Amino acid sequence: MECPKCKNSMECRQSIQTELEDRPIYIHYQWWECKLFNTKYYGILEDSRVNIFDDTMEHTGYFANEKEWEKSLDWSLQCPNPKSVQCKCTVHQQIPPEGFFGDSAWYTND
Ligand SMILES: [Zn+2]
Ligand SMILES: [Zn+2]
Repeated sequence: MECPKCKNSMECRQSIQTELEDRPIYIHYQWWECKLFNTKYYGILEDSRVNIFDDTMEHTGYFANEKEWEKSLDWSLQCPNPKSVQCKCTVHQQIPPEGFFGDSAWYTND
C-alpha cells in the first residue's frame, strides 16, 4: 500500500482477521503507518474470495488520530493470534474499537 497523502510505501503494523457469521467473508482490521510524515490510518480489508460466487476484495482506509491509533494498536497487540478467525480473545470479540471509522483515506478493489 502507498500512503494516499505522500505516496510513500506504508507499513501494516497489525492486521486482525475476523469472519462474519452469516456470510463466507473474512474481514481484516488493520493499523497502517506512513513513517515519512508519521501519518496513521485504519484499514478494513474485506476478502470474499473464500466464496466462489463472490470473489472480490475491498480495501478501505480511514485517517486516524495519532494518539488514538497508538492506543488502539497497543490494545490490539494483546491478541495472541491475529491471523486466526478462531481466536476468542477480547480483541477479537470487541473489534473494531471505537473511532475506527473516520474520514475516508482510500478505497480499492485490488
Ligand atoms: Zn505519507
Ligand atoms: Zn485474538
